[in-house]
Amino acid sequence: MTTIANAVQMINTAKKITFLTGAGVSTPSGIPDYRSLKGVYQGIDQPEYLLSHDCLVREPKKFYRFVKQLYHPQARPNIIHQKIAALAEKKPVWVVSQNIDGLHDKAKTPRVVNFHGNLYDVYCCKCHQKVLWENYLIRDTHENCGGHLRPNIVLYGEGFKEDVINQAIHAVKAADLIVIIGTSFQVAPFNQLLNYRDSAAKVMAINQTALAIQEPFTMIQCAAEDLFNEINI
Ligand SMILES: [Zn+2]
Repeated sequence: MTTIANAVQMINTAKKITFLTGAGVSTPSGIPDYRSLKGVYQGIDQPEYLLSHDCLVREPKKFYRFVKQLYHPQARPNIIHQKIAALAEKKPVWVVSQNIDGLHDKAKTPRVVNFHGNLYDVYCCKCHQKVLWENYLIRDTHENCGGHLRPNIVLYGEGFKEDVINQAIHAVKAADLIVIIGTSFQVAPFNQLLNYRDSAAKVMAINQTALAIQEPFTMIQCAAEDLFNEINI
C-alpha cells in the first residue's frame, strides 16, 4: 500500500505536476458540494436542473435563488490550495479545477484552468458587459440595460469553450505527474482529460473514497488536507 509519505515523495520528486481538483479540495474551506444543497424550498428539483441552462431560461428566479447559495465570498484558500501555489513557485505546476469558487486563483496559483468557470466572473446576457459579483448578489438584472445577469460557469446543457478545453489538454500533456484530488472523477469531459497525458506520466489520486479509473494509478485514500500538511516546501 502506498503511504502518505510515499505520495509526498512522488510530489516532491516530480518535475512537472498537473493537479486535477474537485469539490473535496474546497470543503476544508467551508464550501459544501452543491449536490448537498437540496434545500427545503427547492422541493423535488435536482441540483442538475437548478444549475441548468433550461432552468436559467425557463425559471430564472429559481435559478438565481439556487445559484446565490453557492457564493461563499468569505471562504479562504486552505492548506491544499496554499501548498499547490507554493509548489508552483518551485516547479512548473498547472491546476485544472472542476470547482467554480475561484479559490486556486485566490491562493495565487499562476496557471489555473477553471474548467467549469468561475462564480465570481459575472456578465450580462443582453449586452455582455462584465458586472461585479457583488451587484449580482443584490439583483439578477443589469442596471444599465435590464438584461439578465449570470455567472460565467458551465451550466448543464451548455457546451464547453474550446480554449478552456485546449488549455486543460495542454496542462495534462505537460505533466510527468498527474494528481487527482477530491473528486470521484466520474464527470465527463473532465475525467477524459487523462487520455491526453504523456505515456510516461504517472497518475495519483488522493480521495476519501477509492476511485475506479481504467489507467494504472496510485490511490491514496485519505483526507487531502492531511497529505498536504506533510508536504514541506
Ligand atoms: Zn446589460
